[in-house]
Amino acid sequence: MAFLTNPPPAGIYIHIPFCAQKCLYCDFYSITDLCLQDAFIEGLFREIAATKNQLTFDSLYIGGGTPSLLPHNQIGRIIDRISAQFNLEASAEITLEVNPGTVTLESLKAYRERGVTRLNIGVQSFQNTHLQWLGRMHPADAAKDAILWARAAGFDQIGMDLIYGLPGQSRQAWLADLHQALSFDPEHLSCYMLTCEPDTPLDRMRRHQEFKPMADGDVCDLFETTVMELSGQGYPLYEISNFARKGSNSPDVNRSRHNQKYWTDAPYLGFGPAAHSYLNPVRYRNHRDIAAYLADLYSGTLPIAEKETLSLEQQLMETVFLGLRTLEGISIQRFEEKSGRPFNVLFQDILTDPELKKLITLTPEHCSLTFQGMMVLDSIAGMFVDRI
Ligand code: SF4
Repeated sequence: MAFLTNPPPAGIYIHIPFCAQKCLYCDFYSITDLCLQDAFIEGLFREIAATKNQLTFDSLYIGGGTPSLLPHNQIGRIIDRISAQFNLEASAEITLEVNPGTVTLESLKAYRERGVTRLNIGVQSFQNTHLQWLGRMHPADAAKDAILWARAAGFDQIGMDLIYGLPGQSRQAWLADLHQALSFDPEHLSCYMLTCEPDTPLDRMRRHQEFKPMADGDVCDLFETTVMELSGQGYPLYEISNFARKGSNSPDVNRSRHNQKYWTDAPYLGFGPAAHSYLNPVRYRNHRDIAAYLADLYSGTLPIAEKETLSLEQQLMETVFLGLRTLEGISIQRFEEKSGRPFNVLFQDILTDPELKKLITLTPEHCSLTFQGMMVLDSIAGMFVDRI
């Protein structure tokens, strides 16, 4: 197996496991008991201090959960601890996830002053009926305030998360959300299809037939609407759920540097309960339980729940699955360096199948999916994986 000669810069993720209330669709790990905040910060600092790594990091992403529920000085302390422990570049992208209703102009200014360069705001919808149905705690006006305050605080990198595919949601209703988001001229938009993740309240509601999920064909129509509308407004898709405003000199200046690491085999360290780390070929995950996480750290042990060394086959499968999610697609050179096998020979029958021609784009450098191909991402990725 050949290793890449120039590994891409690494990223750091911090998981803040607190939320004011749980949204019905969410399967991220978080708790609503905020009493453990101080113990968590102490545990997090122990975890950071006990982790040694010589890589160069060019992104730090503080997500969750709801990081903006912490007192805002704690965010600055986390950034300081990371900078002191690791080689975090001075020009690193430092992203903070915030939720409407948990920020003020003052707190946003404080984040900016302490080094946060990019905000990701959990808007989800600008329609109160949709927010209520999703179990969000904030009204639409709180999202508008948060966006305006973020600009006033000096942020020039603002991203918003939106959700589409709610039961009965019309194309017009979704376009209204997109247009409202675009009216704030954000640098980045993440548009997620609503999914019923196992063991969420939404999943239980679906099983009890309390609502009927949108039909797959209708969700695909909304995906197509999203891609067409946003690309027409200068926000080309660069990953199946992510869109960045084109810069005047560079098409990718507003992409999330950190999130791109997950799709391109870059190394990353994760801290906090349920956080994942990946140092090719090893992947590990922390306890998805704050008590177990803190118990390990307070007894001098790293809070790792699971660790695995990916086989070459697993690595290639991930390269395919993650690569096909992106606009650029799979890097053929990177795949061949890893596998030692010629890409075009290994996947010849897929690449020459006339039925798949409109779904797959092949260049000498990359193999990617067309937008139609992205609508059937799982089945096409499955075909590639079957041949590895
Ligand atoms: S605020 Fe975010 S992390 Fe918390 S429950 Fe809602 S979706 Fe999940």
